[in-house]
Amino acid sequence: MTNFLKEITVRSREQISACFQCYRCTNGCPVAERMDIYPHRIMRYIQLGEREKVLSSKGLWECLMCNTCSIRCPNDIDVARVFETLRKVASEEGVTADDRIWGFDRLFLESIRHHGRLYELGTILNYKLQKKEFFKDAKMGITMMLKGRMGILPHRVKDKRHIKEVFERIKRR
Ligand code: SF4
Ligand code: SF4
Repeated sequence: MTNFLKEITVRSREQISACFQCYRCTNGCPVAERMDIYPHRIMRYIQLGEREKVLSSKGLWECLMCNTCSIRCPNDIDVARVFETLRKVASEEGVTADDRIWGFDRLFLESIRHHGRLYELGTILNYKLQKKEFFKDAKMGITMMLKGRMGILPHRVKDKRHIKEVFERIKRR
């Protein structure tokens, strides 16, 4: 077993070595065509210890975490969880292929942690501030607000205790 395979197996708690390349994960993935490395190939490269190739893959950041691959896997490997683990490792090591996606990911999670659900307008404004892209897509944003598709104020959930617990559980993992 390569060191990389061991590391990702331990961190994701998934039996990556059980993957026998049936392609079912890739065949069901709604964004596979956008990925530079297909999901089943990512699994194979992990087995082979191709650390750099895997962690710098843009495909990791295209993943929608929809879990289709995990449900389809005949070996019960939670492929989405493996992807999530790879994203964490990539960001810890500063090798994120696209910092815009990771930046938005963090703001998205911060909004959920704070409000209990996504505050779209706040998240987008924070993102625009970070990227200094104040007017890009402004017209679309205004149209969405006028049509009632995006609220001006955040909607908060009443009991945020559970949300806090979920975030703490993830942090401990
Ligand atoms: S979780 Fe990610 S890799 Fe898996 S099917 Fe969905 S988008 Fe594709
Ligand atoms: S579905 Fe499971 S066994 Fe098949 S290629 Fe994907 S991860 Fe490997």
